[in-house]
Amino acid sequence: MGALVLASRNRKKLIELESLLAPLGYQLKLVSEFSDVEPEETAPTFVENALIKARHATKVSGLPAIADDSGLEVGALGGAPGVYSARYAGTQGDDAANNAKLLAALAETPDEQRAARFVSVLALLRHADDPVPLIAFGAWPGRILREPRGANGFGYDPLFLDLESGQSAAELSAADKNTRSHRARAFAALLAQLRP
Ligand code: IMP
Repeated sequence: MGALVLASRNRKKLIELESLLAPLGYQLKLVSEFSDVEPEETAPTFVENALIKARHATKVSGLPAIADDSGLEVGALGGAPGVYSARYAGTQGDDAANNAKLLAALAETPDEQRAARFVSVLALLRHADDPVPLIAFGAWPGRILREPRGANGFGYDPLFLDLESGQSAAELSAADKNTRSHRARAFAALLAQLRP
């Protein structure tokens, strides 16, 4: 297999993606090896934002590229924070502020109405003008806790209860998270498309 560029700058997400991709046998490169420019994720859908990131990465590298766009959808909030997950509280990537805003928004919401899911869309482009990108979707259902639990992971992990294990996503080990996460499920869907 050849080289593949990973279009992500979120360090912790990147580590997850790298370990998910490892079995594919690609020589992985990071988009930061080719460019410091970050494309604006301005689209209203995860699919379009994943394509924006993958297209940018393949343009600056001349190599095939894969990007993930992901977020948290909370039913009681009409799907928010959704595509705005990384900047829900205003500042891009401020996990503590995002989590505090989420808890405040759900302060009056009873447990049985705190259903949520993490979603991930992966886009794989062979080259910048690829007219047939591969798109894969994965979702991880759960519930929003009333207070943070656990120290692993990133983003909303401490507030996200995995219903199957009864642990928050931040209490799961990295390996366990990688067997059930939205990104893992999207990867499984992508692999199914890559198989001849
Ligand atoms: P992206 O990097 O533009 O895709 O933004 C994704 C945002 O969604 C992150 O900054 C987190 O706030 C949230 N998110 C996505 N995946 C996860 C996860 O696995 N755990 C916790 N938060 C996540």
